Amino acid sequence: MLIKDSDRIFTNLYGRQDWHLPEAKSRGDWDKTKTYIAQGQQWIIQEVMTSGLRGRGGAGFPTGKKWSFMPKDDGVTPRYLIINADESEPGTCKDRDILRHEPHKLIEGALLSAFAIGSHTGYIYIRGEFYREAQHLETAIEEAYEAGLLGKNAAGSGWDFDLYVHRGAGAYICGEETALLESLEGRKGMPRLKPPFPAVVGLYGCPTIVNNVETIAVVPTILRRGGAWFASLGTPDNTGTKIFCIAGHVNTPCNVEEAMGIPLKELIETYGGGVRGGWDNLLAVIPGGASVPLIPTDICDNVLMDFTSLAQCKSGLGTGALIVMDKSTDIVKAIARLSKFYMHESCGQCTPCREGTGWMWRMLTRLSDGIGTVEDIDLLEQVTYEIEGHTICALGDAAAWPVQGLIRHFRPELERRLGVRRAG
Ligand code: SF4
Repeated sequence: MLIKDSDRIFTNLYGRQDWHLPEAKSRGDWDKTKTYIAQGQQWIIQEVMTSGLRGRGGAGFPTGKKWSFMPKDDGVTPRYLIINADESEPGTCKDRDILRHEPHKLIEGALLSAFAIGSHTGYIYIRGEFYREAQHLETAIEEAYEAGLLGKNAAGSGWDFDLYVHRGAGAYICGEETALLESLEGRKGMPRLKPPFPAVVGLYGCPTIVNNVETIAVVPTILRRGGAWFASLGTPDNTGTKIFCIAGHVNTPCNVEEAMGIPLKELIETYGGGVRGGWDNLLAVIPGGASVPLIPTDICDNVLMDFTSLAQCKSGLGTGALIVMDKSTDIVKAIARLSKFYMHESCGQCTPCREGTGWMWRMLTRLSDGIGTVEDIDLLEQVTYEIEGHTICALGDAAAWPVQGLIRHFRPELERRLGVRRAG
């Protein structure tokens, strides 16, 4: 069942109304913000825990739980809130629409979240290519300062909070939270070894929470309507609404906010205008941005768009961005292209990722041209498992999973190409 319009959080997702402060306020943003702060840090954390909100950046870690990992405030060490706006996952453009059309939801969420974790300083790390979005954000922050919603005694709450925008330089790896922190500190964006996790040792060695844009932007509505309301939407363990991106071979590519757990087919048919040439013309879908394994038609028929259901069929919800491929797609070339992307974006500090991403790309390129042997397919699969789980950050996994998905579901196509070449 589709959600009601009244349950949608992002009421200006498409930018049909103005995004400046007066109009944002007329949509309900910044309404009674100080009364939520007056209820205390524990109350906010508890409401977010009750809501069941899971991070919207890809990993799906429970947000309230992440906040609870912050060490006890010693009153001396600064604590930081970092908002990850480095949206670079292929197929994913949901945060971009929030930054463009709903910046005040994010800024209000930043104040409430920062208060909950005891932070007086926040940074929004925004992807360098998001030029217009950064401009909107800067302007919206200025508006908030002028209205007394940020800075000293923010929103009349008694809490001081400053928020800064930091523009990145366009490296995909800076979306990884510790690479982001390195970049913010002025160094090359290279992921750190964990533990320690940023909640304990983060920006400038201080306790830090890094959350995705969508995650922070839904916090004000959760507090306004209650954690229980958010938890009533979606499926167990996968609560609330989510912005899904629908791209590729559909008739009407779009972003749409829907309940977690909506059937993938319903999402494509209702909002994406259906697959080009009809549902029977579908070949496969990558359901969570480029980093998760593709799923073929028979799984797409019934699978639900949530963390649990997609993990059960060996894929993932990731960023909730669907890349739809119809039967005109050269599926081997498509995955080879993704491998090239990961090769290019690898920061190079660990060997399996640095060497393996390029090797996988070269191997897939050869196989897509029908060059190689059946044993090469086995070797390629084996190498993906040597990369997965053996690297500092998840980029190694992200590079390996699409290749694993291809071999799992389209091995006959790989073998057919080898056979065709031999027969030729
Ligand atoms: Fe860098 Fe890749 Fe290692 Fe991540 S997995 S730290 S991107 S080399």
